[in-house]
Amino acid sequence: MSKNLEGQQVLILPEGSSRILGRDAQRTNIAVAYAVANAIRTTLGPRGMDKMLVSDIGDIVITNDGATILEEMNVEHPAAKIMVEIAKTQDKEVGDGTTTAVMISGNLLKKAGDLLDQNIHASTIIKGYTLASAKAVESLEEISSRVSPKDIELLEKIASIAMGSKSVGSGSSKDFLAKLVVKAVTQVAEQKDGKYLVDHDLIKIEKKAGGDIQDTTLIHGVLVDKEIVHPQMPKTISAPKIVLVDAALEIEKTEIDAKIEITSPEQMQAFLGQEEKMLKDMVEKIAKTGANVLFCQKGIDEVAQHYLAKKGISAVRRVKKSDMEKLARATGASIATSLDDLDEKQVGKAGKVEEKKISGEAMVFVEGCEHATSVTIFVRASTEHVVSEGERAIKDAIGAVSSALEDGRVVTGGGSAEIELSKRLYEYATQIGGREQLAITAFAEALEIVPRTLAESAGMDAIDAIVSLRSKHKEKSGTNMGIDVYTAKIEDMQKLGVLEPAKVKKQAIQSAYEAAKMLLRIDDMISSRGKPMPRGGPGGDMGGMGGGDY
Ligand code: ADP
Ligand code: MG
Repeated sequence: MSKNLEGQQVLILPEGSSRILGRDAQRTNIAVAYAVANAIRTTLGPRGMDKMLVSDIGDIVITNDGATILEEMNVEHPAAKIMVEIAKTQDKEVGDGTTTAVMISGNLLKKAGDLLDQNIHASTIIKGYTLASAKAVESLEEISSRVSPKDIELLEKIASIAMGSKSVGSGSSKDFLAKLVVKAVTQVAEQKDGKYLVDHDLIKIEKKAGGDIQDTTLIHGVLVDKEIVHPQMPKTISAPKIVLVDAALEIEKTEIDAKIEITSPEQMQAFLGQEEKMLKDMVEKIAKTGANVLFCQKGIDEVAQHYLAKKGISAVRRVKKSDMEKLARATGASIATSLDDLDEKQVGKAGKVEEKKISGEAMVFVEGCEHATSVTIFVRASTEHVVSEGERAIKDAIGAVSSALEDGRVVTGGGSAEIELSKRLYEYATQIGGREQLAITAFAEALEIVPRTLAESAGMDAIDAIVSLRSKHKEKSGTNMGIDVYTAKIEDMQKLGVLEPAKVKKQAIQSAYEAAKMLLRIDDMISSRGKPMPRGGPGGDMGGMGGGDY
């Protein structure tokens, strides 16, 4: 470096960039992550509150779902975005436990902040957290019990607990939906090498406002949100023979501007006759298979519709590709891409095809399929908002029940699993010793946020609740003691039937840990967006949405 450069600032970043370094970077990220966690904390559990989210164009969403809230919040800060990622991953991987995952992560970071203030290095904290998270996952396995598709009642409890906090009406509606979800999931579950697999694509959810949540039905087959095209076609077809066609029953209009010169009425007649004949031929090809129901992924010309109706074939046009695939699986039909190679072998079966009017709109139900490997849950409820929340509740329940089946393990909820894990981590910390011990203890404390929050939602004194839970868990028979949010008492969660899939908890702990680790590693934040980094922090970024500090 030459002498005359001394003391002069060297710019390596473009003008307008901002930079936060070292402890400041960590402090900012921790504050933001904790603020996000706090913002959704009050929604946890069946006594949790809902949030009303209003988008910039005035759309309203009322929900209790962590993933949905975070998505709608449109957070700005990069650390907040990572928290949103946790919720999304959790939702994608296991379909439930989003609030839990984000809360644990936010608290892992807050505790890490306290340790940083005591001059414990981030890498020591990360090391301790890594040990703790592995130990927690291992302990989770130990305290879990087995579940199989035969344990219908148990699975129904899992479904009902997963729906717990969503407002889908009374307890009886929840039991009703839980039964429906378990039927749907066990129907599509496939056994492979002794393990169960649930393909969520095989469970379709359709919703329509109007009616009552108890009018929600499970259709063993597929529901197509389209109408039968022609009024003269039969609307109810029992024991239908079904063909699926991915080709248009239309005359292709030439792309280039072809001109046809017609000089006489005879020529016109011949030309139209030709078109008509082509369409009639198409219909013939379908009729030849013996089918009486046609689902077409493309369009059906009016003339073709007329001929189809004459042949007594009911047809639905412009069916979604995903629906076509579901129809194929359910009815055993294969999708024909051209009318020419259509034959009887491609025809599928069902118990009944019927067009029904739901809230004034026609929909086609394909029911009683032999291979009912795909099912549709048709959600009904009084208003759009309730239907949407009902759908989210059902999705959580599907996620929970399939996680339970796939992993084959359940644990007790109500904060009991978290308290038990944290107890084991306190013990483990003393075995490890050293500075990591402090981080493992911090991990144990962070897990307690779940029972603590559930206790608060039930109106209990959080500190008393934790103290008494800890002492209950010291006893051998106390492993399942958790918060009964309805009576505000400490109870045995196994006896109350508050059960959750072990996989949901495992994923929540793991993704919470991964995100915390990622944010702790950052000691330099550079933004080249030409505006200062949003600083965030409780009451800052989140506009005081959270439930305050505890
Ligand atoms: P998440 O998005 O994390 O799934 P929820 O709002 O669904 O959040 O709440 C889940 C938490 O509520 C779990 O810890 C679960 O054990 C607890 N919970 C659900 N139902 C009950 C109940 N009846 N009694 C006590 N705790 C419950
Ligand atoms: Mg849940």
